[in-house]
Amino acid sequence: MTYLDHAATTPLRDTAREAWIEASRQLGNPSSLHAAGRRARAIVEDARERIAAAVGADAPEVILTSGGTEADNLAVKGLHWGRAAQDPARRRLIVSSVEHHAVLDPARWLAHRRDAELIEIGVDPAGVLDLDALDTALDHEASAVSVMWANNEVGAVQPLADVVALAAAHGVPVHADAVQALPYLDVHLHRSGLDAVTVSAHKVGGPVGVGALVARRGLPLEPLAHGGGQQRSVRSGTLDAPGAAAFATAVDDAVAERASERARVERLRTHLVEGLRSRVPEATVTGPLDAARRLPGIVHCVIPGARAESVLFLLDAAGVAASSGSACTAGVVQSSHVAMAMGWSPEDAACTLRLSLGRTTAEADVATVLAALPDAVARARAASGL
Ligand code: PLP
Repeated sequence: MTYLDHAATTPLRDTAREAWIEASRQLGNPSSLHAAGRRARAIVEDARERIAAAVGADAPEVILTSGGTEADNLAVKGLHWGRAAQDPARRRLIVSSVEHHAVLDPARWLAHRRDAELIEIGVDPAGVLDLDALDTALDHEASAVSVMWANNEVGAVQPLADVVALAAAHGVPVHADAVQALPYLDVHLHRSGLDAVTVSAHKVGGPVGVGALVARRGLPLEPLAHGGGQQRSVRSGTLDAPGAAAFATAVDDAVAERASERARVERLRTHLVEGLRSRVPEATVTGPLDAARRLPGIVHCVIPGARAESVLFLLDAAGVAASSGSACTAGVVQSSHVAMAMGWSPEDAACTLRLSLGRTTAEADVATVLAALPDAVARARAASGL
């Protein structure tokens, strides 16, 4: 199979699998006081330190979670409620309109089911945040800002230094979802000036179901899960020692090979984009042109008339695993909220294709998808009467 869906999930690293198996041999609840519990606890704390070092934070700042979704929910709801508890005038939550649903949906829930005022900041046609609109939305009534480090559909990297500077002027904490950025960009909490960052293990070759919210000490963060008081009561629940160990190993490896992988994947991407432009001229490759402003591993395009589910089905039949980049319900791809935020019509936003490259991608995979695409696109367009 030609696997071009690394933005959805990445193959588990052998090193991470071994770390998981090794840690799973240790009996004991990491919160128990006996020797077995203390050994399990040592595994978690060693992992926490390694994850912290990899993302430029201190170990107590790493709040382990069940993945990126939980960390995003904790950031959005926890920061909004936490800041509002300090200052009840702060009811306005600000997010970008191209956030992953793990940010967008809790933010909309707070607006519809609780008393938050929500502002979704738009993006330009390349998917980059409108900083002027952000500036206008920020004042002493803002509770929190969440803008992703890099977008999972089109790969646009957001101007976070500007976001941080604008928010700081109004005392507003900033969270960034760095789930897609972690494999390729220098995700460093302290250097970034951000207050909280979401990371997830399975996008860097770790297991699914492990992630972290890396949050500066002293941040007002209301817990969502109450219980045994683990992790300073911000996130209760028995600690997952094998998951933490595997995550730490995966992120260590990802950071060690980050620079070389970025260059290698960028070269593959260049070949893929060149091939796409010559073989499927009706496709428009989206996202920023400047390589510094986008992820190296994502090629996202709009192919008018070629509905995503048809193209994906035909590519799958040719042995290529790809994605539309957006959600799918009952086998039908929904119009991408990211593509629409970038100005595409709902019809075109249902005709997206995301090919995401990664650690296991080779030139042969690029050649395979380029050979399969023209026919898949022609048949998908014919199916819709074009
Ligand atoms: N945020 C982004 C940008 C993602 O791409 C994903 C996964 O697709 C998530 C959050 C959710 O992470 P998880 O699958 O670990 O819950």
